[in-house]
Amino acid sequence: MPPLLSVDEALARVLACARPLGSERVGVAAAGGRVLASAVLARVDLPPFASSAMDGYALRAAETPGRLPVGFRIAAGKPAQRALEPGEAMAISTGAAVPTGADAVVPIERVVQYGNGIDVPAVEIGANVRPAGGDVRAGAVVLSAGAVVGARQIGALAASGAAELEVARRPRVVVVSTGTELRAPGEALGAGQIYESNGPMIAAALEAAGADVERIGPVADDEQAHRSVLERGLEADVLVSSGGVSVGPHDLVRNILRELRVVEEFWGVAVRPGKPLAFGTRGDTLVFGLPGNPVSALVGVELFVRPALLALQGAPSPGPHYELGRLASPLRRNSARDSLARARTSRGEEGTSLEPLGGQDSHMIVRAAVADALVFVPAGEGEVAAGEVVRYLRLA
Ligand code: AMP
Ligand code: MG
Repeated sequence: MPPLLSVDEALARVLACARPLGSERVGVAAAGGRVLASAVLARVDLPPFASSAMDGYALRAAETPGRLPVGFRIAAGKPAQRALEPGEAMAISTGAAVPTGADAVVPIERVVQYGNGIDVPAVEIGANVRPAGGDVRAGAVVLSAGAVVGARQIGALAASGAAELEVARRPRVVVVSTGTELRAPGEALGAGQIYESNGPMIAAALEAAGADVERIGPVADDEQAHRSVLERGLEADVLVSSGGVSVGPHDLVRNILRELRVVEEFWGVAVRPGKPLAFGTRGDTLVFGLPGNPVSALVGVELFVRPALLALQGAPSPGPHYELGRLASPLRRNSARDSLARARTSRGEEGTSLEPLGGQDSHMIVRAAVADALVFVPAGEGEVAAGEVVRYLRLA
Protein backbone atom coordinates (compact mmCIF):
# COMPACT_ATOMS: atom_id res chain seq x y z
CA MET A 1 0.00 0.00 0.00
CA PRO A 2 1.14 3.60 -0.60
CA PRO A 3 1.64 5.79 2.50
CA LEU A 4 -1.70 6.26 4.23
CA LEU A 5 -3.44 9.63 4.15
CA SER A 6 -4.66 11.19 7.36
CA VAL A 7 -8.43 11.30 7.83
CA ASP A 8 -8.40 15.10 7.45
CA GLU A 9 -6.29 15.04 4.29
CA ALA A 10 -8.47 12.34 2.74
CA LEU A 11 -11.63 14.31 3.54
CA ALA A 12 -10.15 17.49 2.08
CA ARG A 13 -9.37 15.63 -1.16
CA VAL A 14 -12.88 14.21 -1.35
CA LEU A 15 -14.54 17.58 -0.74
CA ALA A 16 -12.29 19.26 -3.30
CA CYS A 17 -13.87 16.98 -5.93
CA ALA A 18 -17.49 17.48 -4.81
CA ARG A 19 -18.88 20.30 -6.96
CA PRO A 20 -22.47 21.29 -6.18
CA LEU A 21 -25.12 19.73 -8.41
CA GLY A 22 -27.90 21.75 -10.02
CA SER A 23 -31.20 22.57 -8.37
CA GLU A 24 -34.90 21.87 -8.83
CA ARG A 25 -38.19 23.17 -7.47
CA VAL A 26 -40.20 21.19 -4.96
CA GLY A 27 -43.34 21.91 -2.98
CA VAL A 28 -42.67 22.98 0.59
CA ALA A 29 -44.33 19.87 2.05
CA ALA A 30 -41.98 17.64 0.04
CA ALA A 31 -38.78 19.48 0.99
CA GLY A 32 -37.86 17.42 4.08
CA GLY A 33 -34.21 16.35 3.97
CA ARG A 34 -33.38 18.65 1.07
CA VAL A 35 -30.82 21.48 1.00
CA LEU A 36 -31.95 24.96 -0.05
CA ALA A 37 -30.29 26.11 -3.25
CA SER A 38 -31.20 29.73 -2.68
CA ALA A 39 -32.28 31.89 0.24
CA VAL A 40 -36.01 32.00 0.93
CA LEU A 41 -37.55 35.38 1.81
CA ALA A 42 -40.78 35.82 3.74
CA ARG A 43 -43.64 36.56 1.36
CA VAL A 44 -45.74 38.04 4.16
CA ASP A 45 -45.33 39.57 7.59
CA LEU A 46 -45.75 36.88 10.22
CA PRO A 47 -48.18 37.28 11.82
CA PRO A 48 -49.64 39.13 8.80
CA PHE A 49 -51.77 41.31 11.12
CA ALA A 50 -51.81 42.13 14.82
CA SER A 51 -53.52 39.13 16.34
CA SER A 52 -54.77 37.98 19.69
CA ALA A 53 -52.68 35.52 21.70
CA MET A 54 -55.67 34.53 23.85
CA ASP A 55 -59.39 33.94 23.83
CA GLY A 56 -60.59 37.11 25.55
CA TYR A 57 -61.58 40.71 24.93
CA ALA A 58 -59.89 43.37 22.81
CA LEU A 59 -59.95 46.78 24.45
CA ARG A 60 -58.06 50.00 25.14
CA ALA A 61 -55.63 49.53 28.04
CA ALA A 62 -56.21 53.13 29.10
CA GLU A 63 -59.87 52.29 29.79
CA THR A 64 -58.96 49.64 32.39
CA PRO A 65 -59.69 48.80 35.14
CA GLY A 66 -63.42 49.26 34.60
CA ARG A 67 -66.67 47.98 33.23
CA LEU A 68 -67.05 47.78 29.42
CA PRO A 69 -69.95 46.69 27.20
CA VAL A 70 -69.04 43.99 24.64
CA GLY A 71 -70.01 45.34 21.24
CA PHE A 72 -68.92 42.62 18.82
CA ARG A 73 -67.51 39.08 18.55
CA ILE A 74 -64.42 38.52 16.34
CA ALA A 75 -63.51 34.96 15.27
CA ALA A 76 -60.22 33.79 13.72
CA GLY A 77 -60.38 34.39 9.97
CA LYS A 78 -63.26 36.88 10.36
CA PRO A 79 -61.91 40.37 11.08
CA ALA A 80 -64.14 43.00 12.69
CA GLN A 81 -65.96 45.14 10.13
CA ARG A 82 -65.36 48.27 12.18
CA ALA A 83 -62.90 49.85 14.62
CA LEU A 84 -63.22 49.49 18.39
CA GLU A 85 -65.19 52.45 19.67
CA PRO A 86 -64.18 54.31 22.84
CA GLY A 87 -65.66 52.73 25.93
CA GLU A 88 -66.33 49.28 24.48
CA ALA A 89 -64.65 45.86 24.29
CA MET A 90 -64.90 43.22 21.58
CA ALA A 91 -64.84 39.48 22.26
CA ILE A 92 -61.94 37.94 20.33
CA SER A 93 -60.58 34.44 19.72
CA THR A 94 -56.96 33.32 19.65
CA GLY A 95 -55.43 34.15 16.28
CA ALA A 96 -58.15 36.64 15.30
CA ALA A 97 -57.22 40.12 14.05
CA VAL A 98 -57.15 42.74 16.81
CA PRO A 99 -59.47 45.54 15.65
CA THR A 100 -58.23 49.05 14.91
CA GLY A 101 -58.39 51.11 18.08
CA ALA A 102 -57.70 48.20 20.46
CA ASP A 103 -54.23 47.99 22.04
CA ALA A 104 -54.59 45.02 24.41
CA VAL A 105 -56.45 41.78 24.97
CA VAL A 106 -57.58 40.60 28.39
CA PRO A 107 -57.96 36.83 28.70
CA ILE A 108 -61.44 35.48 29.29
CA GLU A 109 -60.38 34.00 32.66
CA ARG A 110 -59.49 37.43 34.03
CA VAL A 111 -62.85 39.16 33.52
CA VAL A 112 -66.19 38.93 35.29
CA GLN A 113 -69.11 38.84 32.86
CA TYR A 114 -72.36 40.67 33.46
CA GLY A 115 -75.26 40.97 31.01
CA ASN A 116 -73.63 42.04 27.75
CA GLY A 117 -70.53 43.50 29.39
CA ILE A 118 -67.42 42.67 31.42
CA ASP A 119 -65.61 43.89 34.52
CA VAL A 120 -61.94 44.16 33.64
CA PRO A 121 -58.86 44.45 35.88
CA ALA A 122 -55.99 46.79 34.92
CA VAL A 123 -54.45 45.69 31.61
CA GLU A 124 -51.11 46.82 30.13
CA ILE A 125 -50.77 48.23 26.64
CA GLY A 126 -49.84 45.46 24.21
CA ALA A 127 -50.86 42.65 26.55
CA ASN A 128 -51.70 39.45 24.60
CA VAL A 129 -51.39 41.20 21.24
CA ARG A 130 -48.99 39.58 18.77
CA PRO A 131 -47.70 42.45 16.65
CA ALA A 132 -47.78 42.12 12.86
CA GLY A 133 -44.34 40.96 11.64
CA GLY A 134 -43.26 40.06 15.18
CA ASP A 135 -41.86 36.72 13.98
CA VAL A 136 -40.59 37.84 10.58
CA ARG A 137 -41.11 40.83 8.26
CA ALA A 138 -42.09 40.36 4.62
CA GLY A 139 -38.89 40.35 2.53
CA ALA A 140 -36.62 39.24 5.37
CA VAL A 141 -34.55 36.06 5.04
CA VAL A 142 -36.34 33.03 6.50
CA LEU A 143 -33.57 30.54 5.65
CA SER A 144 -30.30 30.92 3.76
CA ALA A 145 -28.97 28.88 0.87
CA GLY A 146 -27.37 25.69 2.17
CA ALA A 147 -29.85 25.23 5.02
CA VAL A 148 -30.97 21.65 5.46
CA VAL A 149 -34.76 21.49 5.55
CA GLY A 150 -36.25 19.54 8.45
CA ALA A 151 -39.61 19.72 10.17
CA ARG A 152 -39.02 23.09 11.86
CA GLN A 153 -37.78 24.60 8.63
CA ILE A 154 -40.82 23.33 6.72
CA GLY A 155 -42.98 24.99 9.36
CA ALA A 156 -41.13 28.30 9.02
CA LEU A 157 -41.20 28.23 5.21
CA ALA A 158 -44.89 27.37 5.00
CA ALA A 159 -45.85 29.97 7.65
CA SER A 160 -44.02 32.73 5.82
CA GLY A 161 -45.77 31.93 2.56
CA ALA A 162 -43.32 29.75 0.61
CA ALA A 163 -45.22 27.32 -1.64
CA GLU A 164 -42.31 26.05 -3.74
CA LEU A 165 -38.59 26.08 -3.01
CA GLU A 166 -35.42 25.84 -5.04
CA VAL A 167 -33.50 22.90 -3.56
CA ALA A 168 -30.36 21.05 -4.61
CA ARG A 169 -30.99 18.12 -6.89
CA ARG A 170 -30.75 14.80 -5.06
CA PRO A 171 -27.42 13.14 -5.80
CA ARG A 172 -28.06 9.95 -7.78
CA VAL A 173 -26.05 7.22 -6.09
CA VAL A 174 -25.43 3.65 -7.16
CA VAL A 175 -24.44 1.29 -4.35
CA VAL A 176 -22.68 -1.91 -5.45
CA SER A 177 -21.86 -4.83 -3.15
CA THR A 178 -19.08 -7.15 -4.27
CA GLY A 179 -18.21 -10.62 -3.03
CA THR A 180 -18.87 -14.14 -4.29
CA GLU A 181 -19.68 -15.17 -0.71
CA LEU A 182 -22.61 -12.76 -0.39
CA ARG A 183 -26.26 -13.78 -0.46
CA ALA A 184 -29.23 -11.45 -0.39
CA PRO A 185 -31.25 -11.54 2.82
CA GLY A 186 -34.02 -14.14 2.44
CA GLU A 187 -31.91 -16.59 0.44
CA ALA A 188 -30.57 -19.81 1.94
CA LEU A 189 -26.89 -19.70 2.95
CA GLY A 190 -24.60 -22.29 1.38
CA ALA A 191 -21.19 -23.31 2.68
CA GLY A 192 -18.91 -20.30 3.14
CA GLN A 193 -21.65 -17.79 2.42
CA ILE A 194 -22.86 -14.82 4.47
CA TYR A 195 -25.72 -12.40 4.15
CA GLU A 196 -24.93 -9.23 2.34
CA SER A 197 -25.53 -6.32 4.70
CA ASN A 198 -23.49 -3.44 3.33
CA GLY A 199 -25.78 -2.68 0.40
CA PRO A 200 -28.95 -2.05 2.41
CA MET A 201 -26.99 -0.38 5.22
CA ILE A 202 -25.16 2.05 2.95
CA ALA A 203 -28.31 2.77 0.96
CA ALA A 204 -30.22 3.62 4.14
CA ALA A 205 -27.46 5.94 5.36
CA LEU A 206 -27.18 7.73 2.04
CA GLU A 207 -30.92 8.11 1.56
CA ALA A 208 -30.99 9.84 4.93
CA ALA A 209 -28.35 12.21 3.54
CA GLY A 210 -30.62 13.17 0.63
CA ALA A 211 -29.46 10.69 -2.02
CA ASP A 212 -31.59 8.92 -4.58
CA VAL A 213 -30.10 5.42 -4.29
CA GLU A 214 -30.07 2.46 -6.65
CA ARG A 215 -28.66 -0.74 -5.19
CA ILE A 216 -26.93 -3.34 -7.38
CA GLY A 217 -25.67 -6.76 -6.44
CA PRO A 218 -24.26 -8.56 -4.70
CA VAL A 219 -21.92 -9.31 -7.62
CA ALA A 220 -19.44 -12.17 -7.72
CA ASP A 221 -15.68 -11.61 -7.67
CA ASP A 222 -15.50 -11.93 -11.42
CA GLU A 223 -14.02 -9.33 -13.73
CA GLN A 224 -16.83 -9.30 -16.24
CA ALA A 225 -19.49 -9.04 -13.54
CA HIS A 226 -17.59 -6.19 -11.91
CA ARG A 227 -17.10 -4.39 -15.22
CA SER A 228 -20.77 -4.34 -16.11
CA VAL A 229 -22.09 -3.13 -12.75
CA LEU A 230 -19.33 -0.61 -12.11
CA GLU A 231 -19.79 0.78 -15.60
CA ARG A 232 -23.48 1.25 -14.86
CA GLY A 233 -22.66 2.86 -11.53
CA LEU A 234 -20.40 5.39 -13.22
CA GLU A 235 -23.46 6.92 -14.90
CA ALA A 236 -24.58 8.18 -11.49
CA ASP A 237 -23.34 11.23 -9.59
CA VAL A 238 -21.75 8.96 -7.01
CA LEU A 239 -20.71 5.31 -7.19
CA VAL A 240 -20.20 3.58 -3.85
CA SER A 241 -18.92 0.02 -3.87
CA SER A 242 -18.10 -2.16 -0.91
CA GLY A 243 -15.61 -5.00 -0.74
CA GLY A 244 -12.84 -5.92 -3.10
CA VAL A 245 -10.54 -2.95 -2.48
CA SER A 246 -7.94 -4.65 -0.34
CA VAL A 247 -4.83 -6.56 -1.46
CA GLY A 248 -6.24 -10.06 -1.99
CA PRO A 249 -6.31 -11.84 -5.36
CA HIS A 250 -10.10 -11.47 -5.53
CA ASP A 251 -10.02 -7.74 -4.84
CA LEU A 252 -10.88 -6.52 -8.32
CA VAL A 253 -12.61 -3.20 -7.80
CA ARG A 254 -9.65 -0.85 -8.19
CA ASN A 255 -8.34 -2.57 -11.31
CA ILE A 256 -11.70 -2.55 -13.01
CA LEU A 257 -12.31 1.07 -12.06
CA ARG A 258 -8.94 1.98 -13.55
CA GLU A 259 -9.90 0.15 -16.77
CA LEU A 260 -13.09 2.19 -16.78
CA ARG A 261 -11.02 5.40 -16.71
CA VAL A 262 -11.63 6.28 -13.09
CA VAL A 263 -8.75 8.43 -11.84
CA GLU A 264 -7.81 7.23 -8.37
CA GLU A 265 -7.26 10.16 -6.00
CA PHE A 266 -6.14 8.03 -3.10
CA TRP A 267 -6.18 4.53 -1.68
CA GLY A 268 -5.52 3.97 2.01
CA VAL A 269 -6.49 6.14 4.97
CA ALA A 270 -4.81 6.03 8.37
CA VAL A 271 -7.99 5.01 10.13
CA ARG A 272 -9.14 1.88 11.92
CA PRO A 273 -11.38 0.33 10.80
CA GLY A 274 -11.61 1.47 7.19
CA LYS A 275 -8.00 1.64 5.98
CA PRO A 276 -8.21 0.30 2.42
CA LEU A 277 -10.78 2.89 1.30
CA ALA A 278 -10.28 4.01 -2.30
CA PHE A 279 -11.53 7.26 -3.79
CA GLY A 280 -11.45 8.52 -7.34
CA THR A 281 -13.38 10.42 -9.99
CA ARG A 282 -14.46 10.01 -13.57
CA GLY A 283 -15.59 13.36 -14.89
CA ASP A 284 -17.98 14.72 -12.27
CA THR A 285 -18.76 11.28 -10.85
CA LEU A 286 -17.33 10.58 -7.40
CA VAL A 287 -16.27 6.99 -6.82
CA PHE A 288 -15.87 5.47 -3.37
CA GLY A 289 -14.49 1.96 -2.98
CA LEU A 290 -15.35 1.12 0.62
CA PRO A 291 -13.82 -1.87 2.37
CA GLY A 292 -16.07 -4.91 2.75
CA ASN A 293 -16.12 -5.36 6.49
CA PRO A 294 -19.42 -3.82 7.52
CA VAL A 295 -18.08 -1.60 10.29
CA SER A 296 -15.28 -0.41 7.99
CA ALA A 297 -17.88 0.43 5.36
CA LEU A 298 -19.96 2.29 7.94
CA VAL A 299 -16.95 4.34 9.04
CA GLY A 300 -16.19 5.19 5.41
CA VAL A 301 -19.77 6.38 4.95
CA GLU A 302 -19.72 8.57 8.05
CA LEU A 303 -16.26 10.05 7.49
CA PHE A 304 -16.35 10.60 3.74
CA VAL A 305 -19.44 9.64 1.75
CA ARG A 306 -22.07 11.50 3.77
CA PRO A 307 -20.04 14.75 3.80
CA ALA A 308 -19.49 14.39 0.04
CA LEU A 309 -23.24 14.04 -0.55
CA LEU A 310 -23.97 17.12 1.52
CA ALA A 311 -21.27 19.05 -0.35
CA LEU A 312 -22.81 17.98 -3.67
CA GLN A 313 -26.05 19.47 -2.37
CA GLY A 314 -24.32 22.74 -1.52
CA ALA A 315 -24.28 22.44 2.27
CA PRO A 316 -21.76 25.05 3.46
CA SER A 317 -20.40 22.86 6.25
CA PRO A 318 -20.85 19.26 5.19
CA GLY A 319 -19.15 17.77 8.25
CA PRO A 320 -18.56 15.33 9.69
CA HIS A 321 -19.32 17.29 12.83
CA TYR A 322 -17.65 16.05 15.98
CA GLU A 323 -19.03 16.64 19.43
CA LEU A 324 -17.19 16.43 22.75
CA GLY A 325 -17.82 13.86 25.44
CA ARG A 326 -16.06 12.08 28.27
CA LEU A 327 -14.88 8.49 27.99
CA ALA A 328 -16.46 6.20 30.59
CA SER A 329 -13.84 3.44 30.15
CA PRO A 330 -10.34 3.51 28.68
CA LEU A 331 -9.68 2.87 24.98
CA ARG A 332 -6.44 1.50 23.60
CA ARG A 333 -4.81 3.62 20.90
CA ASN A 334 -3.42 2.25 17.66
CA SER A 335 0.18 3.32 17.15
CA ALA A 336 -0.16 4.07 13.43
CA ARG A 337 -3.81 4.89 12.76
CA ASP A 338 -6.59 6.96 14.27
CA SER A 339 -9.38 4.67 15.42
CA LEU A 340 -13.13 5.03 15.58
CA ALA A 341 -14.64 3.07 18.42
CA ARG A 342 -18.33 2.27 18.67
CA ALA A 343 -19.84 3.61 21.87
CA ARG A 344 -23.10 4.39 23.61
CA THR A 345 -23.77 7.85 24.90
CA SER A 346 -25.51 8.77 28.11
CA ARG A 347 -26.16 12.18 29.58
CA GLY A 348 -24.94 12.95 33.05
CA GLU A 349 -24.30 16.07 35.10
CA GLU A 350 -20.90 16.44 33.47
CA GLY A 351 -22.29 16.29 29.93
CA THR A 352 -22.15 13.37 27.53
CA SER A 353 -20.49 10.19 28.71
CA LEU A 354 -19.27 7.61 26.16
CA GLU A 355 -19.23 3.92 27.03
CA PRO A 356 -17.23 1.92 24.46
CA LEU A 357 -18.98 -1.28 23.39
CA GLY A 358 -17.52 -4.75 23.55
CA GLY A 359 -16.81 -6.31 20.16
CA GLN A 360 -14.90 -3.64 18.25
CA ASP A 361 -13.83 -5.93 15.38
CA SER A 362 -14.69 -4.59 11.98
CA HIS A 363 -16.96 -7.50 11.03
CA MET A 364 -19.13 -7.11 14.15
CA ILE A 365 -22.00 -5.12 12.74
CA VAL A 366 -24.53 -6.60 15.16
CA ARG A 367 -22.45 -5.41 18.13
CA ALA A 368 -22.32 -2.00 16.45
CA ALA A 369 -26.10 -1.82 16.07
CA VAL A 370 -26.63 -0.50 19.60
CA ALA A 371 -23.93 2.16 19.23
CA ASP A 372 -25.00 5.77 18.82
CA ALA A 373 -21.52 7.25 18.63
CA LEU A 374 -18.15 6.74 16.97
CA VAL A 375 -15.40 7.88 19.33
CA PHE A 376 -12.30 9.30 17.63
CA VAL A 377 -9.19 7.80 19.24
CA PRO A 378 -6.06 9.55 17.93
CA ALA A 379 -3.14 7.34 16.89
CA GLY A 380 -0.48 6.95 19.55
CA GLU A 381 0.88 4.76 22.29
CA GLY A 382 -0.96 3.48 25.36
CA GLU A 383 -4.58 4.31 25.95
CA VAL A 384 -7.01 7.16 26.30
CA ALA A 385 -7.98 7.06 29.96
CA ALA A 386 -11.45 7.00 31.45
CA GLY A 387 -12.59 10.55 32.16
CA GLU A 388 -10.69 12.12 29.26
CA VAL A 389 -12.56 14.41 26.90
CA VAL A 390 -12.71 12.98 23.37
CA ARG A 391 -14.30 13.88 20.03
CA TYR A 392 -17.13 11.70 18.75
CA LEU A 393 -19.52 11.48 15.83
CA ARG A 394 -23.17 10.99 16.65
CA LEU A 395 -24.72 8.17 14.65
CA ALA A 396 -28.25 8.77 13.39
P1 AMP B 1 -13.33 -7.68 1.21
O1 AMP B 1 -13.00 -6.24 1.45
O2 AMP B 1 -14.06 -7.92 -0.05
O3 AMP B 1 -12.13 -8.53 1.36
O4 AMP B 1 -14.32 -8.08 2.37
C1 AMP B 1 -13.91 -8.03 3.72
C2 AMP B 1 -14.89 -8.75 4.60
O5 AMP B 1 -16.14 -8.10 4.50
C3 AMP B 1 -15.15 -10.16 4.18
O6 AMP B 1 -15.31 -10.92 5.37
C4 AMP B 1 -16.44 -10.11 3.42
O7 AMP B 1 -17.14 -11.31 3.44
C5 AMP B 1 -17.17 -9.03 4.14
N1 AMP B 1 -18.10 -8.34 3.27
C6 AMP B 1 -17.83 -7.81 2.05
N2 AMP B 1 -18.90 -7.28 1.50
C7 AMP B 1 -19.91 -7.42 2.37
C8 AMP B 1 -21.28 -7.08 2.37
N3 AMP B 1 -21.84 -6.44 1.34
N4 AMP B 1 -22.02 -7.41 3.44
C9 AMP B 1 -21.47 -8.07 4.49
N5 AMP B 1 -20.18 -8.42 4.55
C10 AMP B 1 -19.39 -8.12 3.51
MG1 MG C 1 -14.52 -9.49 -1.20
